[in-house]
Amino acid sequence: MQQSNEQLEAGVTREPFGQLPDGTQVDVLVLTNDDGMVVRAITYGGIITSLRVPDRNGQLDDIVLGYDHLEGYLEESPYFGAIIGRYGNRIAGGRFALDGQTHTLATNNGPNHLHGGITGFDKVLWQAEPFEKGDSVGVTFSYTSRDGEEGYPGNLDVRVTYTLTAANKLVFDYYAVTDRPTPVNLTQHSYFNLAGDGSGDILGHHLTINADHFTPVDSTLIPTGAIAPVAGTPFDFRSATAIGARIDLDEEQLRYGLGYDHNFVLKRGDSALTHAARVYDPQTGRLMEVYTTEPGIQFYAGNFLDGSITGKAGHVYRRRYGFCLETQHFPDSPNKAEFPSTILRPGDEYRSTTTYVFGIRP
Ligand code: BGC
Repeated sequence: MQQSNEQLEAGVTREPFGQLPDGTQVDVLVLTNDDGMVVRAITYGGIITSLRVPDRNGQLDDIVLGYDHLEGYLEESPYFGAIIGRYGNRIAGGRFALDGQTHTLATNNGPNHLHGGITGFDKVLWQAEPFEKGDSVGVTFSYTSRDGEEGYPGNLDVRVTYTLTAANKLVFDYYAVTDRPTPVNLTQHSYFNLAGDGSGDILGHHLTINADHFTPVDSTLIPTGAIAPVAGTPFDFRSATAIGARIDLDEEQLRYGLGYDHNFVLKRGDSALTHAARVYDPQTGRLMEVYTTEPGIQFYAGNFLDGSITGKAGHVYRRRYGFCLETQHFPDSPNKAEFPSTILRPGDEYRSTTTYVFGIRP
């Protein structure tokens, strides 16, 4: 790739990135560690616009999809790199009942509510507080979502902290408090391609997911409520398997998702942070491990990318040019009493942590 391997100094800087239509400035926070890893995140949507990670030869490449300029994110973005909220993934019919009252949400995905609605947390301006702590650098994004926003009850104060450590860990800490009961399910929507942004599809990446079960969906991608075993299905990623090995099998769940677009039920151990997934790119040797406190992970194989988006450096994003691993509670939990609850109540704190660890195999 045409990026230089010039090593920036470890630390965190803040620079202007662009302007919203009303003239408000959007900044980019640049987090750099001693290994040369660089994370760029903007105050609009908390979007990670670039993530430079070494390969097995020490070559740094940007491994996330996105745009060079703010305009791209404003015009059309399938949630590239963004913070997702109040509710990651779908809520059936944009409706749920809570404490005897029915709430109606914006519907922005066929009949359903997706990723927080029309103006979700991916499309709002966040306050940003950069910090350096020991050998880690980071930024805390904060945002207050008003009572009634996108139909959700209660004022919700949200903080999302991105921390880059010297050991090439990127840690996401989510925190929220509310003044009325409300569903909360925050996640991060980076599209990864471990061989480098725009370099091709991700079908040759090897994926492992620590899940014996997944949540099958209907044709509008709402969970049926079943917790189905992965054994004997194309959803068995308990040992490393190429993403492309079974993605186009003629199977109902794969037909509904146009490939993988499903929530996996993580097998939880004793520690709060569970090993959720591992992705390995044999070509570059890059390895990504995902750990989380969440009960689920959405594996989305970029099936809806169709070549209509031209992103960074003129790269055309064709089908499956990036994958997402979104740690989360299960989709449509507010309508599924049998799923772990996503309801946050006044006086309680929403806390969630996800870590992506980047490494190599020789
Ligand atoms: C969803 C997909 C959706 C994608 C981009 C994923 O989290 O599961 O269905 O197309 O986000 O919007």
